[in-house]
Amino acid sequence: MSTIAFIGLGIMGSPMAVHLQNAGHTVRGYNRTPDKTAPLVEAGGIAASSVAEAVTGADVVAVMVPDSPDVRDVLTGEDGVYANAAQGTLVIDFSSIRPDVTVELAEEAKEKGIRLLDAPVSGGEAGAKNAALSIMVGGAEEDFAAAKEIFDVVGKTIVHVGPSGSGQTVKAANQLIVAGNIALLAEAVVFLEAYGVDTSAAIEVLGGGLAGSKVLDQKAQKILDRSFDPGFRIELHHKDLGIFTSAAREEGVVAPVGALVGQLMAAALATGDGSLDHSGLFQTIARLSGRE
Ligand code: NAP
Repeated sequence: MSTIAFIGLGIMGSPMAVHLQNAGHTVRGYNRTPDKTAPLVEAGGIAASSVAEAVTGADVVAVMVPDSPDVRDVLTGEDGVYANAAQGTLVIDFSSIRPDVTVELAEEAKEKGIRLLDAPVSGGEAGAKNAALSIMVGGAEEDFAAAKEIFDVVGKTIVHVGPSGSGQTVKAANQLIVAGNIALLAEAVVFLEAYGVDTSAAIEVLGGGLAGSKVLDQKAQKILDRSFDPGFRIELHHKDLGIFTSAAREEGVVAPVGALVGQLMAAALATGDGSLDHSGLFQTIARLSGRE
C-alpha cells in the first residue's frame, strides 16, 4: 500500500481520494479551499495544509485540478510537487490539460528524477463516485505498470495509449465526441418539444436504437427536467474544446463540426451559463429557436 498525496479535492478529486483511502492506501489530501478535505478526513485520510506537506514523503502524487496553468502551478511552483517530492516519486496527473504542456511538464519531471503520467479521465461525477472511470494514460510503460493498482481503484476501463501527452490527446477527442453528442441531443429535445411529443417516451425509444448513447442515458433526463447542477461545468468543457481546437490546428486537422460545437459552448459561457452542467448547453441551443 502506498502513501498518496492527492492535490485537488473538487467534484472529481474528492471521491477518487476517498476510494483510494478506502482501498487501504494512506491518502494525504490538499485542497486550496480547506473544507473540501472533509469527506477524505471522514474516510480516515489526512488533510494537509499545503502541497509541500501533502507531498513530502509520499510515494505517489495524484493531481486533479482544472486547467494547464493550475497543473503547472501545482507541479512547478515554489511550494509545489517537483520542489518537494523525493527522487523516483510517481506523479499521476488526472486533470484534463493541453498535451503540449504535459510533454513539457514530463520533461521537467525527468530532469528532477520524478516520473509523470498523464491520466485524464472520462465518466463524469458518477464515474468518479462509482469508481468506474475510463482512464486514458500517457507516459512510460513501466510507470503505467507501477500506477495500475491505483488506476484499478478509481477506474474500470484503463488503457495505456502511448507516450507522454497521448492521454491528453485522447481526452481532447473524448471531449469533442461528448460535446457533439450533447449538442445534437439538445437540438433533438427542442425539436421534439416543438411538436408536443411525449419526450420521456421519445427518449426511451431513442435510447434503445442507434441513437442511444451514454450521453443520452446520463443527460437526457437533466435536459427534460431543466436540471443543470454540475456535474461537469460548461466552463471546463469550453476549456477542453479550446484544447482540441488548438491541437487540431497545430497538426492541420480540419474539424468543422467541432468548430461549430466549440462556438456554441463559447456562447453558453458568454451568456452566463459557465457554472451549469454541460447538459445546460441545451439553453443556448433552445434560445436559437426562441425557446427555453
Ligand atoms: P472542480 O470541482 O472545480 O475541482 C477542481 C479542484 O482544483 C478544486 O478543488 C480547486 O480548489 C482546485 N484548484 C483549482 N485551481 C487550483 C490551483 N491553481 N491550485 C491548486 N488547486 C486548484 O473541477 P472538477 O470537475 O473536479 O475537474 C477537475 C479536472 O477533471 C478538470 O481538468 C476537468 O476538466 C476534469 N474532468 C472533470 C469531470 C467532471 O465531470 N467534473 C469529468 C472528467 C474530467 P478550490 O476548491 O479552492 O476551488
